[in-house]
Parts: sequence; C-alpha cells; structure tokens
Amino acid sequence: MPDVKRPALFVFAHQDDEVAYGCMLRNMANAGRDIRVIWITDGARFVPAEVRRGESTANMKRAGISKERLTFWDYPDGGAIRFASEIVERLTMAMREIGPGEVYAVACEGGHPDHDFAHFAAVKAASAQEKKPPVFEVPCYNKSSCGYAHSTDSSPLRRRLFTHRYPEMIYSSSHALS
Ligand SMILES: [Zn+2]
Repeated sequence: MPDVKRPALFVFAHQDDEVAYGCMLRNMANAGRDIRVIWITDGARFVPAEVRRGESTANMKRAGISKERLTFWDYPDGGAIRFASEIVERLTMAMREIGPGEVYAVACEGGHPDHDFAHFAAVKAASAQEKKPPVFEVPCYNKSSCGYAHSTDSSPLRRRLFTHRYPEMIYSSSHALS
C-alpha cells in the first residue's frame, strides 16, 4: 500500500520521460506530496546532457517541483543495461535514503532497452527495501493511447489506474487506498 506521507519516487530512463506523467506530477505537487525524481541515463544520445537536463528541470519547475528534488545520473543513453548491477545497487541505496511510499517507473514494454531496464531496476530496488513500496509502471508508447498504469503489488492496487486521460485519478486512488 502506498504511504502518501512518505515521498513519491519517480524513476525515469531519459530526460523527457517525465512528459508522460506531467499531469500526475503536477497534481501530486499541488496536493503537497514530497516528490523525488531520478533519471538514470544522461539522455545524451543526440543532444548534449546539459541541454536535456535543463529541459527536464524546466518541465519539473512547471509541475511545481524544485530542482533540489531532482537527481540526474549519467549512465549512457541506450546503454544503461551495461551497468545493471551498479544501477540496481545505487537505486537500492537511494530508495533506502528516500524511503518512498510508492515508486513510479517507466514500464517494461519490450521496446526501448533503457525503459525496460529502468523498470526492472525499480522493481528490484523496491523489493530490497525493508518496507517495500509498491511500484507502478506507466507506459510511454505501447499503451500510451489508453494510458494505464498498474502496480506490481498484489493488493487491490493492481487494478488499472488511468493516468493520461484521467490524470487526477491515480493520485486520488492512491489516497483512497492508503
Ligand atoms: Zn525514454
């Protein structure tokens, strides 16, 4: 069960993945949640890392989340899997420090390897926590037209939660079930 008194942690593969969660991030920030965000790769495959970080920082500012809440790692865009063990360990430690009530990660969609790995790393790190936070996955492409998220938790939260069309719903659902 999510604990909404604790921070909500978002784990993204690249700068711009946050766009799929924009409304949800803003709603949560407006509701006073402590939001933390980690981007695993530098996103620098086609555009310099500083540019992409600047864009994501601006996106988050628009959503009401200050840069102190944002963490940019610098694993290579397209090659995160090469650092799998290190990233899982680092994420496990970050979660231990943050103590999230729930985790939102990009979905494993059998597409972009960084996305699939980011999802795996989030689930693995969450499962290593003493107090295991539920992990929600949100697709960025395969199911983006219907935009649902589901939880890896086996609780009633496993039901599908709409985030794109009904961005306010996932947050109220988390609230209702906490
Ligand atoms: Zn991405």
